[in-house]
Amino acid sequence: MKCPHCQAADLKVIESREAGDGDAIRRRRECLQCQHRFTTYERIERPPLAVLKKEGERELFDRRKLFVAIHRSVGKFFTSEVEIEEIVARVEDALYNCGENEILSRQIGDLVLEELARRNKVAYVRFASVYREFKSIDEFEQVLRQLRHT
Ligand SMILES: [Zn+2]
Repeated sequence: MKCPHCQAADLKVIESREAGDGDAIRRRRECLQCQHRFTTYERIERPPLAVLKKEGERELFDRRKLFVAIHRSVGKFFTSEVEIEEIVARVEDALYNCGENEILSRQIGDLVLEELARRNKVAYVRFASVYREFKSIDEFEQVLRQLRHT
């Protein structure tokens, strides 16, 4: 995708939300070259992406679930949910760009770590300290759930 104003390819997603009946994503993007802002609507026509969990189970990739997991674990380190949306959007793009129709849940966690490392060191350390130990975002979620119930 290119900036409609200056044709630069350096774009930043500043807002991302579902539109219509949830079969499209509305994204506000900002050009890093000329600061021009524009909106895109992307039909969700992506093929289903299976996530293979550590225990061998499979489930469909769910961007909302990923948002909730990140928000719950490190949301307090960000001033805006838009930033978490951007992390989710970038992780999702990277997953689809790898061209596989099945991915490991660990890949998702590693991509999230990469994004956090670039944005917020405190959030990165917090996420890494728990996640790295468990090697799966599902186990990480389980631990968080247990912590809240004790
Ligand atoms: Zn531009």
